[in-house]
Amino acid sequence: MSSTHFDVIVIGAGPAGYPCAIRAGQNKLSVACIDEWRNKDGSYAFGGTCLNAGCIPSKALLESSELYYRTKHEFATHGIKVADVALDLAAMQKRRAQIVKQSTLGIAALFKAAGVTGLQGHGKLLSGNRVEYTDKDGRKQELTAKHVVLATGSAPMELKSVPFDGKDIIDSWGALELESVPKRLGVIGAGVIGLELGSVWRRLGAEVVILEALDTFLPAADGAVAREALKHFKKLGLDIRLGAKVSSAEKTKSGIVLHYSDASGAQQVEVDKVVVAIGRRPYTQDLFGEGTGVELDERGFVKVDEECRTTAPNVWAIGDVVRGPMLAHKGKEEGVMVADLIAGKVAEVNYKTIPSVIYTAPEIAWVGQTEEEVKRSGRPYKVGTFPFMANGRARAMEAAVGFCKIVSASDDDEILGVHIIGPMAGELIAEAVLAMEYSASTEDLQRTIHAHPTLSEALHEAALHADKIAIDFPNR
Ligand code: FAD
Ligand code: NAD
Repeated sequence: MSSTHFDVIVIGAGPAGYPCAIRAGQNKLSVACIDEWRNKDGSYAFGGTCLNAGCIPSKALLESSELYYRTKHEFATHGIKVADVALDLAAMQKRRAQIVKQSTLGIAALFKAAGVTGLQGHGKLLSGNRVEYTDKDGRKQELTAKHVVLATGSAPMELKSVPFDGKDIIDSWGALELESVPKRLGVIGAGVIGLELGSVWRRLGAEVVILEALDTFLPAADGAVAREALKHFKKLGLDIRLGAKVSSAEKTKSGIVLHYSDASGAQQVEVDKVVVAIGRRPYTQDLFGEGTGVELDERGFVKVDEECRTTAPNVWAIGDVVRGPMLAHKGKEEGVMVADLIAGKVAEVNYKTIPSVIYTAPEIAWVGQTEEEVKRSGRPYKVGTFPFMANGRARAMEAAVGFCKIVSASDDDEILGVHIIGPMAGELIAEAVLAMEYSASTEDLQRTIHAHPTLSEALHEAALHADKIAIDFPNR
């Protein structure tokens, strides 16, 4: 390191920290980004949870496992006869690891191109915008910066009654790197991770039981979407048990018995491995020295305002370590905003248009308010829906399940929320996000030409249906 003083030091190189560092570099600021992520073999890697143990490896396995499942169960419908379909899990996992490696090495190259000094090791904020950097060999060095950005992310929440043992009771990272398909997999938590990773291992042949404490399935999603999703997950064979409060895990000769209670009383289920996926907590371990002035809220998140300023001057915080949804793209937008604000530019994040996607089959995606939320708000509204059954491209793909739904204001036609369950929902939602970002009305969507035959026509037709003028489906 040629200099120990920077305009900006970012602590954490996940999807919040690394874009912040790159944008700061693009803004001609001198910037260092410190990251301590270590893989299970001890090697350092940039990219944080998302690239190393989250978004990217989970999507690699979701893709591979879906191809395997479709080859086994759906190709015959297309008139493709495949004999002896066999799983080579080692090859599947090798591919997953290669994709992760490619992605994380890419960040080092991006840092170089943007003039970012990438440092691998631990960063600790000291008072007066000083940062103690401990390198790979344990050597400490004091760095200073005009601005420090905290982007230290999150870690899996632990369940006291079912403690991780790293072997049989594992977190999502462990569940991504399993070397054999468990015969019986228990998942605690029917949230995004439970559903995505539960789907992966179910498709690869495991019996999967998911224990969810709440009585409601996917409460953050629109009610109609959640009901449709539950139907499909049950069809896949995910045994989702709602209202299940887990009290203990007992290791026996034949496996692990999870004891839980539900509306009918005490229950138990025996499995071979358990994935605990009950949410994540902000990660701030050994991040603060004395007197930094950075305050945490009661749940341990770094307190920030709308512009991600902490309670300490020129210290900012972004991504999973602050309030808001724990999503990579939310962190990225915050990172870019902060780097621009530091450079004196105008920047903001529109928290109302952050899309959510669950990469199961069918995929689930939404942006804005659910119908239930709009109803509670008291604003008069209209709903348009269109089933993929009536979409030619979806039928041609043999993927005609689910629907698009649009919730709009009756008074001024504003689009309030869009909810999609079906093929490529995660891609289709981008149009709705753009429409809402530009305050488009339902009529704007109705007047936008969509290519035929595409899945996007389903969203177009849902917009038409909001005014009961859909063409390809009866307007009930
Ligand atoms: P992180 O990615 O956690 O990065 C923080 C980095 O800071 C880490 O590298 C950490 O080692 C480092 N660090 C921490 N403390 C220090 C320190 N003191 N000094 C130096 N370095 C430090 N989100 C999506 O949007 N889409 C998805 O499909 C998706 N899939 C997911 C799948 C799984 C299995 C999981 C677990 C998460 C998934 N997420 C997904 C969530 C997503 O990974 C997080 O929202 C995102 O990684 C948060 O980014 P971040 O930069 O805030 O934190
Ligand atoms: P989550 O908040 O999505 O789901 C956790 C689930 O566990 C909830 O349904 C909750 O009710 C349940 N739960 C909590 N305590 C429980 C208990 N004691 N027993 C049984 N159930 C319990 O959290 P997650 O699935 O762990 O994911 C963590 C974060 O990672 C999420 O914030 C999510 O946004 C992010 N993530 C995003 C994606 C994506 O964008 N596709 C994928 C994976 C993870």
